[in-house]
Amino acid sequence: MLTPPVSDISTKRNGIKAWLKRKLPSSSVAMEQKLQYLLENIQKQFDLLGEQQLKREDRILSESNEQNEILKKYMQQLAARLDNLEKRQNSELAVLKAELESLDNILANNQLSVMQKIEQNEKNILRVVHRRSDRLEEIDNRHTPRTDISFEVALAEHCNLRCAGCDHFSPIAEPEFVDIEEFERDFSRLSELFVGKAQEIHLLGGEPLLHPKIALFLVIARKNFPQAVIDITTNGLLLKQMNEEFWTSCRENKIVIRPTKYPVNLDYDALEELAAAHNVEYRYIGDTHDTIKTLNKYPLDINGLQDARRSFRLCHRANKCIYLQHGRLYTCTVAPTIRHLNQHFGLSLSEDLADSIDIYAAKSAQEILEFLAKPIPFCKYCMPEKSQSGLAWRQSEGKLSEWI
Ligand code: SF4
Ligand code: SF4
Repeated sequence: MLTPPVSDISTKRNGIKAWLKRKLPSSSVAMEQKLQYLLENIQKQFDLLGEQQLKREDRILSESNEQNEILKKYMQQLAARLDNLEKRQNSELAVLKAELESLDNILANNQLSVMQKIEQNEKNILRVVHRRSDRLEEIDNRHTPRTDISFEVALAEHCNLRCAGCDHFSPIAEPEFVDIEEFERDFSRLSELFVGKAQEIHLLGGEPLLHPKIALFLVIARKNFPQAVIDITTNGLLLKQMNEEFWTSCRENKIVIRPTKYPVNLDYDALEELAAAHNVEYRYIGDTHDTIKTLNKYPLDINGLQDARRSFRLCHRANKCIYLQHGRLYTCTVAPTIRHLNQHFGLSLSEDLADSIDIYAAKSAQEILEFLAKPIPFCKYCMPEKSQSGLAWRQSEGKLSEWI
């Protein structure tokens, strides 16, 4: 390193001395004043700096407040949006909840209705099964010889009421009464065959009360069948006019008055009281006080082209409405009364002896019961599958259409 020459250093030192001499006060007072001046000057500089600092802080603070306001507004907007969102969310949730509940209800209702339908179907199936099994039982019963006999017999073929389509053809029957001697003979023979036992015997017609000697028939019927339920099946129109002999015979022979309630002008309550006053049992057909008669229609095929076995199988009158007439028994009431239709309309539906069994020729009750459980030739005229029930009751106009 190069060291400056001594002459240069001394020159500079003199220069500094001169400068200090010029700058420094020449006395301590002056020095003090100078210092005072410097201190004040420094203080001013501090104050100035302080002011500037405060201004800067104020400026920063005010700028910060503006930003804060903006932020605050922004936050408020955000809060409002959040609030809206929450409200929308809540309302959508409420809608969803309601829809869910309604779906639940629909599901529950559907389930209930499905269960109800299943239950109803089960009932319907059971009903059909029961009906079919009843029908099968009926068919079986028709073809099975009965163990005891019940039968009916007409005391009069004609009738004073004339119901449309009457299956005894009474509205078109000529007046005809059963003969009392024949009646007694037939009852005696049946009593002999069935050892005095029958379940039910219906004395009917036509209208049985039209027979002037009805009281005597009751005696004969009871004498031959002491234990049977014997009734007079009647339309009741003549009951009020019956004499004491009739009522006494009913009472003494334990005959039941069995009227059908027809929609005619008849005081049925008064008839009940009348029977009660004579101590005679009075029971409506069907054992109900309310049922009013409707009509059944059993149409015939007058050409006789039906399958007799099938007709018998479907017929609810077969082997049930067993009918006694002129010493013969029929499995139903149609074949023995068809003569009224033939006579009235000039028809020729066959009246075959093979339709009935001769009670005098029959060797036993069993032979009769077996005969009654089989189709007869006349079944070829019947169409039981076309029979109608529950038709409004009306009087006959005597037209063939009521029976075909
Ligand atoms: S009341 Fe009627 S159904 Fe009975 S026999 Fe007379 S017409 Fe026939
Ligand atoms: S004739 Fe007619 S009503 Fe008589 S049993 Fe035969 S199908 Fe039945």
